[in-house]
Amino acid sequence: MLNLLLDQPLKKYQRVINEINNEYNKISKYSDKDLKEQKNKLKLKINQKRTNLNLILSEAFATTKVAIFRATGMVLFDEQLLAGIILHKRNIAEMKTGEGKTLSALLPAYLHGLSGKGVHIITVNDYLAERDSILAKKIFAYLGLTIGIITQNTEHYARKKEYEYDITYITNSELGFDYLKDNMAVNNNDLVQRGLHYAIIDEVDSILIDEARTPLIISGETSIKSNLYERSKDISSILKKTIHYEVDEKSRSITLTEEGVTLCEETLQIKNLYDVNIPWIKYIINSLKAKELFLKNKDYIIKNNQIVIVDEFTGRIMEGRRWSDGLHQSIEAKENVKIEAENQTLASITYQNLFLLYSKLCGMTGTAKTEEYEFSSIYKMSVIEVPTHKKCIRKDLPDLVYRSEYYKWEAIANECFDMHQIGRPTLIGTTSIEKSELLAKMLKEIGVPYNLLNAKPENISKEAEIIAQAGKKYSITISTNMAGRGTDIILGGNPKQITKLAIKNYLRRKKDNQTIYNNPTEEIENILNIEEIKILKDCYKDTGINNDSTDKFIENITNKDNYNNLYNTYCQLLEKYKIRCKQERNDIINLGGLYVIGTERHESRRIDNQLRGRAGRQGDRGKSRFFLSLQDNLFRIFGGNSIENIMEKLNISETTPIESVILSQSLNSAQKKVEGYFYDIRKKLFEYDEVINNQRKAIYKERKKILNLSFTRDCVIEYGEYTISEMLKEYYKNNKNETILKQIIQLLNITDNFDSNQIKKMRFDEVKNFLCEQFRISYDLKENYLEQLRPGLIRQLEKYYILQQIDKAWQEHINKMNILKEYIGWRSYGQQDPLIEYKNEGFHLFINMITYIRQTVIYLVMRSRLIIEIS
Ligand code: ADP
Repeated sequence: MLNLLLDQPLKKYQRVINEINNEYNKISKYSDKDLKEQKNKLKLKINQKRTNLNLILSEAFATTKVAIFRATGMVLFDEQLLAGIILHKRNIAEMKTGEGKTLSALLPAYLHGLSGKGVHIITVNDYLAERDSILAKKIFAYLGLTIGIITQNTEHYARKKEYEYDITYITNSELGFDYLKDNMAVNNNDLVQRGLHYAIIDEVDSILIDEARTPLIISGETSIKSNLYERSKDISSILKKTIHYEVDEKSRSITLTEEGVTLCEETLQIKNLYDVNIPWIKYIINSLKAKELFLKNKDYIIKNNQIVIVDEFTGRIMEGRRWSDGLHQSIEAKENVKIEAENQTLASITYQNLFLLYSKLCGMTGTAKTEEYEFSSIYKMSVIEVPTHKKCIRKDLPDLVYRSEYYKWEAIANECFDMHQIGRPTLIGTTSIEKSELLAKMLKEIGVPYNLLNAKPENISKEAEIIAQAGKKYSITISTNMAGRGTDIILGGNPKQITKLAIKNYLRRKKDNQTIYNNPTEEIENILNIEEIKILKDCYKDTGINNDSTDKFIENITNKDNYNNLYNTYCQLLEKYKIRCKQERNDIINLGGLYVIGTERHESRRIDNQLRGRAGRQGDRGKSRFFLSLQDNLFRIFGGNSIENIMEKLNISETTPIESVILSQSLNSAQKKVEGYFYDIRKKLFEYDEVINNQRKAIYKERKKILNLSFTRDCVIEYGEYTISEMLKEYYKNNKNETILKQIIQLLNITDNFDSNQIKKMRFDEVKNFLCEQFRISYDLKENYLEQLRPGLIRQLEKYYILQQIDKAWQEHINKMNILKEYIGWRSYGQQDPLIEYKNEGFHLFINMITYIRQTVIYLVMRSRLIIEIS
């Protein structure tokens, strides 16, 4: 029974949890057929009770709990029911690693899936989407709801179907790109999404906090200005730090000193570095950033002669992403790789605004409490901690701080040596690829075998394999932050994964005739008889040789419906590994469980907590410790001198660490400072983004309306009347300027068989009515003419022109807004708040854009005769 007494906010759910369990006892007795029938019964209730899902929550959750038991043999814990309730209430469930988030999400997914409007379960990568959807399919087969899955490999035309299923598993980026593409579609048959109703975001902090700073962008190429980048690179190599420019590592920004500005202007032989027409300043600052702040193998790697970004939080490479505003090109220049064309943004959205489009949003993660304020202020979600099912007994030891980095790494390597000697599995988290490799090298020198997991392409494909082994005896695993997400380290190893791996290795070896000997491979031959081995090989032969097909083949074996005989083989192996893993697990628990070593404090406590959370899973024993040095970034940039002073005073030698609670606390407060600092940046970004977000909503709404409209005539007439009205205002403002009147007549392409002097005498309303009347007459004539040429043509043309003009104008608008945002900071050092100025100017630009769209559409439609003649 869940002890909620200690946790006041949670206490109130105890009654609901009891109710669910009572229902569960009842529904457990249902036949499979009746269990499936629950779907219709509950749907009926929803309809009768006007969609108040709260009223059927207990029954729906209990039904799901029964299905989970029937499909997997697992009985949901009360803590998981609680997490389900939190998700249903549109909040964030903070649940420690290994506590069973994947299953918890199915409870509200079923409940909301009943509404038929679609539930999206968002994961951080394709692997997790695929893995979780396979499990969900198995469970929902008992419930009669359908499961969709969308990954990078899902073809465009297949996506629509996947979105139509009751519940769809998808990554955040696929979801975002589909949203943007839908809003660029010219035909409503091309649309794939059907509205954003209810989303459950897994690893919600990673998506809504860490990724909040990088927008999703769909872009098209423009011309290359590589000479500007090359030239700026040359200049940046002449400029000297502190004399010509200052580097602020905290905000990752560079400012030129006056001497720097003068030197640049002299070298370039220009008068003003800040000239808006050739903004050299942008190129030079970017080159300096590339020189000082963006480091190879930390912030990016070079792969196939291209610069590929490494995600600072996860350590994963971000294939296809580029830094914006020319920074990527500056780095390409620095590394002497081909400078790619600058991109023009065609559509973009931040994750913040993407997810705020959902009617209902919720999320789960192991670590969110530290960002509680941000979740509540921006997303209106509370973070609620779910107690662990078993008490967490992991020991988080105080930090060990060394004076120099060198001795820190030496101490870590020695620690690994000791752990390997006794066989205790150890996971070492590093903050960059470079450091992970440094440690790997050190371990090699002292003869400690290890597995290395970082964003380098040759390692990334082995991620699941490495993690599956990380909890085994003698395992030493070095990993950048990436291993912190989604996969679970099980003490003694993950028998299912190990079984799959054994089969994979066996097939690989047999196929390539290689001699990679390892234990699992040998065992296969001991366990299987010759006949079984033959079947395995024969079946495999059909699947081709690449890694993907091997994985799929093995995945198929684990399902009895696919290859019945191979499934039995798989089960036999699995049983054997289960026994072995269990034995190992006991040994490891006696050694103290998994040991996690942190090698540097991250800017955010959350990321450190994630690393620690790898140990002590589900009440296991475990230990964590951070090894730090005064040369670490966090100390250098944010720590101040106080800590160094303490060390000096204590007169401590280089090799002796200090271990003190006070020191750990002062580090915590340095981290809080950094977190606050980044929160402010995200908040500012959000406020700026709000402006373009509202504009995007308006434009996309209009676009969608047009796309779904079969009769667009009224819309064009409205555009015409709006244009007349706007231009007439100008006409009166400019003292009834004849030229403006001519422009109106020309634009509308109306016959000017009237007297302009007479118009001069008329009032605004009269002129407007008159011109609108004339416009309608001309339009009717045009329509008749085109109808005769080809019936229905005018409607097609109208739609085509409107969409084309909206897209074109919007793309230009986004770029103008980007430039405006960039310049406004420099321009308004003075009195005005730059945000207010940005809002005002942004508004004007938007109105101009709307006017421009309407005018051009009218112009084009009224002249469509020409177009037809040409074509
Ligand atoms: P998280 O995402 O919270 O880290 P997972 O959803 O990956 O955790 O679950 C961790 C492990 O716990 C999985 O192997 C899962 O099968 C197992 N598990 C989840 N719920 C239960 C349960 N109620 N009883 C037994 N095992 C469970």
